[in-house]
Amino acid sequence: MIGPDCIFCRIVANAAECHELYRDETTLAFMDIHPANEGHCLVIPRAHFQTVFEMPSEAFAAVGATVAKIAQAVNAALSPGGLSLVQANGALAGQTVPHVHVHVLPRREGDNLALNWDRLRAADPAHADPERLAAVAATIRAKIVLF
Ligand code: AMP
Ligand code: ZN
Repeated sequence: MIGPDCIFCRIVANAAECHELYRDETTLAFMDIHPANEGHCLVIPRAHFQTVFEMPSEAFAAVGATVAKIAQAVNAALSPGGLSLVQANGALAGQTVPHVHVHVLPRREGDNLALNWDRLRAADPAHADPERLAAVAATIRAKIVLF
């Protein structure tokens, strides 16, 4: 789903409208069309990547640099109580647009956005077992590649 079939590629190409905030050689920031809160905006790579899994780390680093810039601007402009950065990969994670994007999401008292989970919850004690944590860490560590 690249080019004319991808709404975010169309926005990059100025073939679809958006409220653009910022653009550089590799990234673009614009307002989310269905904001979860006032000031909700998105940062995307201008090149089409469906998920972070296909992205070279430098491409994601460029998105991250723009995310920091936009988050600081949103914070300065709107002074929300807090701000969440959200990035979904795959339908199971809640991704609905298959072009990588980071949500810059101002948070307000009582907004009840369902982004947070109880950090102290012991929902699955088996996964919190120290030996299990060490084993999973080893599995992930072995897959970290330095590009
Ligand atoms: P996600 O569900 O994480 O994939 O987020 C996709 C986001 O893209 C949603 O918050 C949508 O409101 C937003 N969105 C979809 N189409 C557009 C568009 N044409 N312009 C701006 N934002 C959009
Ligand atoms: Zn795209």
